[in-house]
Amino acid sequence: MAEQRGTMKKAVFFDRDGVLVRSLVGDGKPYAARTIEEFEILPESGGVTRDLAEAGFPLLVFTNQPDVGNGLVERSVVEEMNRILQQTLPLTAVKVCYHSQTEGCACRKPKPGMLIEAAREFDLDLSQSYVVGDRKSDIEAGNAAGCFTIFIDRGYREQSPDDADKRVHSLAEARDFILALEDNAIE
Ligand SMILES: [Mg+2]
Ligand SMILES: [Zn+2]
Repeated sequence: MAEQRGTMKKAVFFDRDGVLVRSLVGDGKPYAARTIEEFEILPESGGVTRDLAEAGFPLLVFTNQPDVGNGLVERSVVEEMNRILQQTLPLTAVKVCYHSQTEGCACRKPKPGMLIEAAREFDLDLSQSYVVGDRKSDIEAGNAAGCFTIFIDRGYREQSPDDADKRVHSLAEARDFILALEDNAIE
């Protein structure tokens, strides 16, 4: 069980695409779904999020959706995807950066803006929280926020992070690692 000291809670933050939701891979690189038809929650996401929620973690998603800022997808389509995600999985919140790469916002990963904002909003202790991602920018954001970072290596043809606290090959493996670490911490 994730023991909660005081009122600050330890959370698990997930990247969306390639972690909870299927990424489309083209030329070895992952891309977000652009239509509701393409949007698919990965089969293992249900069980993994249920187990972590039962262990007492608030679960949040933090996701860059630059296709909106770049005019490639309507914001309403991404909102609909995230509504489906929240209906299907036990999530406390879905934080989204809709900005393009060129807008210089504080929320776009690798910046930790979404994590910091969520921590303030939901009274979360980032230093006790986990970040699970499949790209370098997820891990950099998590490290910048002081979280424990878990990289799911999906084998993309792009630079992978060298500073993740833990490297795994599936979402289930990330869950097992978190729950084992929590068990050890309490003994
Ligand atoms: Mg991703
Ligand atoms: Zn942003």
